Amino acid sequence: MANTVKVSPTADAEYYRTLSRESGFSPLLVLDCERLRQQYRSLVAALPGVDMYYAIKSLPNMDVLHTLAAEGAGFDIATSAEAEMLAQVAVSPRHTIHTHPIKRPRDIIDALRYGCTTFVVDNPEEIAKFEPYRQRVSLLLRVSFRSPSALVDLSRKFGCAPQEVDTLLDEAARLGIHVKGLSFHVGSQSLDSSQQVKAIDTCNALIRARHARGLPPLSVLDIGGGFPASYGQGEVDIEAYCEPIRAALDRLPEFVNVLAEPGRFLSAPSMTGVATVMGRALRDGRWWYYFDDGVYGSYSGQLFDHTHYPLEVFSDSAERFPSVLSGPTCDSIDVIAEDLELPELQIGDLLVGHSMGAYTAASATDFNGFPRARVVLVNQHMDEALTG
Ligand SMILES: *Cc1c(COP(=O)(O)O)cnc(C)c1O
Repeated sequence: MANTVKVSPTADAEYYRTLSRESGFSPLLVLDCERLRQQYRSLVAALPGVDMYYAIKSLPNMDVLHTLAAEGAGFDIATSAEAEMLAQVAVSPRHTIHTHPIKRPRDIIDALRYGCTTFVVDNPEEIAKFEPYRQRVSLLLRVSFRSPSALVDLSRKFGCAPQEVDTLLDEAARLGIHVKGLSFHVGSQSLDSSQQVKAIDTCNALIRARHARGLPPLSVLDIGGGFPASYGQGEVDIEAYCEPIRAALDRLPEFVNVLAEPGRFLSAPSMTGVATVMGRALRDGRWWYYFDDGVYGSYSGQLFDHTHYPLEVFSDSAERFPSVLSGPTCDSIDVIAEDLELPELQIGDLLVGHSMGAYTAASATDFNGFPRARVVLVNQHMDEALTG
């Protein structure tokens, strides 16, 4: 995958210049709270009746949490640090699930202290960790469904095989630990929803089989995250993506309550990166532009998340030159995009990266002493704007 680079007239840069000037800082990540709300609402509309738990790891930002809490979202946490963030948000701990299949003792203690009582497990050792807390917790059993078409196949690392479900449920029952349902995560940025549909249907069969045997009902199905974001290859039609999922959910028994853990779909479009050319050099006939953000910073997702963001530069010239967009650090891996034909850029010009909310700031470092992008907010909620 490669970045697409759009060249826009310099007048279009004015919005970003103003933000940059007002904040007195570069690089920036501009968080558009209204876009975040729109994403949330469109997913809720595409999956009616499904309770949403935002996966904090995709963009662990307090303003994102406040904005989504105000929309009525629940939250998906994986660590003590994420529970700590949530403790500062006006949301009931009841609307929190802990979904890391492998937990340190502290993660369990801190999540319980926060008030989260739903945890995900996928193996006997992990089930046994809940024996001391069996009066207070209920578990979800994570089932693995391999997803070769997903950009990031999360079922490689976690989840039990569907054939193991019965044995693990029996093991939990033996220890007196309540397992209230099943969960899965088909992987991030799935290209279509067929894997989710297959996973729902398999879980449906498991739930029905146990019910038919008169065993305690599995009354929760957590369909995970993986809802795709657009990275410049056309808009994702979430309504169309979710249609087969809705049909599969309609086939579940009445008593099953459905949850989802969207991360990327909510966070990705909500942030725009703004970096500045800090220096340039003509090397072997190519213009190298060095920006103050790169793959050790907001563009870290290009390495860790295998994502390339739609880029935008600004010029009124029709002339094009071979160009490289580089990050600021002294490491040669720190290149955002190359093999480009771009208009000539000057020191101080801007690079805008779109759909940069998910797995960007989350995995940014300050390697080499270059500070991470500062987050600036636009379109905060009305009443926040009035009181804040
Ligand atoms: C990362 C993760 C998510 C979010 O995945 P997205 O692809 O960003 O939607 C949800 N649930 C679990 C358990 C995860 O690890």
